[in-house]
Amino acid sequence: MKEILLCKYGEIVLKGANKRYFEDQLCRELRQRAKKHGNFEITRGQSLIYVKPLDDFADIDGMFESAMKTFGLAAIGRAAVCEKDVDDIKRVTREYIPQFLEGKKTFKVEGKRSDKTFPLNSMQLSEILGGEILEQMHGRIRVDVRKPDVTVKVEIREQNAYVHAGQFRAAGGLPVGSSGHGMLLLSGGIDSPVAGYMMAKRGLRIEAVHFESFPYTSEMARDKVIRLARTVAAYTGDIYVHVVSLTHIQEELVKHCEEDYFTLLLRRYMMNIASRIAGDHDSKCLITGESLGQVASQTLEAIGVTDNAATIPVLRPCIGMDKEEIVEIARKIDTFDISIEPYEDCCTVFTPKHPRTKPVLEKVLREEQKLDFEALVEEAIATKYTIRAQAY
Ligand code: ATP
Ligand code: MG
Repeated sequence: MKEILLCKYGEIVLKGANKRYFEDQLCRELRQRAKKHGNFEITRGQSLIYVKPLDDFADIDGMFESAMKTFGLAAIGRAAVCEKDVDDIKRVTREYIPQFLEGKKTFKVEGKRSDKTFPLNSMQLSEILGGEILEQMHGRIRVDVRKPDVTVKVEIREQNAYVHAGQFRAAGGLPVGSSGHGMLLLSGGIDSPVAGYMMAKRGLRIEAVHFESFPYTSEMARDKVIRLARTVAAYTGDIYVHVVSLTHIQEELVKHCEEDYFTLLLRRYMMNIASRIAGDHDSKCLITGESLGQVASQTLEAIGVTDNAATIPVLRPCIGMDKEEIVEIARKIDTFDISIEPYEDCCTVFTPKHPRTKPVLEKVLREEQKLDFEALVEEAIATKYTIRAQAY
């Protein structure tokens, strides 16, 4: 028996004249992902995409897992394929459905007929298949149309009919790439991987910048960041991580600037460097994991000061979230356990004892002018090297 995936759109359905564009992005993403799992055919139907294995080696379980992490899909059904013929639909129902009913008490059948030329209507179809299942299960299950344990669905569509035992809620959002590209400032912490996940969900293809400060930060810290990127990549697709050294900038700040301003000044460098790298890679925004009031550098005043050094919009999807809420997402996307591994971040070396929580931009700029900002930025960008973080 042939099993396929019926991948149903989420928000794309509402896109009117632009629907085609979003569908293309979604199909492209699914095709890209399918390469890892074998030989699949991916085609478009009415408000859904069919993912069909083309040979026995195609790994439908692996593809299902991957499709469940593909943004733009609202629900996925694993279905058995039948001819558009009542006898064949009965045969497939008898063979395929009982496995989903073992140990359950009640079921109902829901028919759906997109092809109105099919001789039976949804009601008749549901009745016939319900009878078929009852007979097959020898009284071990009964029908309950109000609150069944399992809803068996039969759909008569364009090419074929399909039977399945319900569908799974998928990742939602918009297809990755449909909103353009964004440059994520990826630290080893809890918040920034979540921020990347959230913006990918709104259709951004993610690239990342990671700042290190060797030898004050270690290779282990960088390795951790790459593992985080690979974990998020299950949702976003592969992520190019641009690693940039801030060592010299930090040493210069310590030598020449007032300690209270270290973090703010450093964060201005980060924003500016990330903006420039974004420009070179077609990213139209920066993304950070900042959350209002979480630490001294995330007060409204501090955000104003650092924002001023960015040259493109900065998206902060975690800005209104509590740590608990961010952690909940981090657990869901499997980044949490990696994030809490204890390695130093460049923000945590040379941290001021009394960071400014209500900085004034003019004063910060005066401190900044003690150094050659432009030259240091260019020097840092010259240290950039790129690692492609591929989903596991
Ligand atoms: P996170 O948990 O994401 O590390 P945080 O609460 O530790 O966040 P900060 O260290 O102030 O907060 O960093 C705020 C944001 O700045 C991070 O979410 C991230 O987007 C960016 N950032 C911080 N450190 C780095 C770094 N080493 N490389 C790249 N981006 C960074
Ligand atoms: Mg951090």
